[in-house]
Parts: sequence; structure tokens; C-alpha cells
Amino acid sequence: MDCIFCRIAAGEIPADVVARGEGALAFRDLNPQAPTHVLVIPRHHVPSAGHLTDAERAPVLGELMRLAVEVAAQLGLADQGYRLVVNTGANGGQTVDHLHVHLLGGRQMRWPPG
Ligand code: 5GP
Ligand code: ZN
Repeated sequence: MDCIFCRIAAGEIPADVVARGEGALAFRDLNPQAPTHVLVIPRHHVPSAGHLTDAERAPVLGELMRLAVEVAAQLGLADQGYRLVVNTGANGGQTVDHLHVHLLGGRQMRWPPG
């Protein structure tokens, strides 16, 4: 499987891991778009949220969000706030086809996003 995030999950490519959850991993984005920019991924390969089975959708997405919120608190973002984003598919701006939640914090976010 030629997937960069699967290779990070397998430890084949180094990453700055900040937390591990049940079946999930959080590591810093290589090209940060905010002072804090962390990616939270399932360890197993799933292209996007739409590819999860009905049975796994709630537990997998729940665990990714749970870990993202935990990391946000751990990194001191809870008081000032932060943004969680899941880019999905071409129009969503997804560039890595392995499901991931972006945790962005440390600056004022704008709306609407570009
Ligand atoms: P997307 O555009 O799919 O929503 O987000 C993919 C993210 O993965 C981008 O923010 C990009 O900077 C990040 N990324 C791509 N390759 C690597 C890598 O090898 N290591 C890390 N840590 N982040 C990566
Ligand atoms: Zn993958």
C-alpha cells in the first residue's frame, strides 16, 4: 500500500507523534498552517469518512474527534479555541487519501474558509 499516512502509522516514515489513541494516531503536520497543526488519523487505511462501513463510522469518527479534542487540551488550546477540519474529496481539498482530522490552533481562524 503506497499511502504516506499508512507508512507513518507503521513507523516506516518518521513523524512528530503527539498522542496515540485506540486505533488512532496524532502527529504534527509537515507543512503547518497555524502555530499548532496536528493530524489525527486511524491506524488502518480508510480513504475518507465516506469509505467507512456503517458499523465502523461512528466509532472511528468518534475516536478521531475524541483524540483531537484531547490533544487540543494537552497542547493548551482549549481556552483560546481551535478548529477541527476534515477535508473530504476533490472539492473538499483533500490531498492525502487516508482519512484525517486537522487540528489547527494558536491563531485566529477566519470564516468562510477558502
Ligand atoms: P489534506 O490536504 O489531505 O486535508 O491534508 C493532508 C495534510 O498532510 C497536509 O496538511 C500536508 O501538509 C500533510 N502531509 C503530507 N505529507 C505529510 C508527511 O509526510 N508527514 C506529515 N507529518 N504531514 C504530511
Ligand atoms: Zn493509508
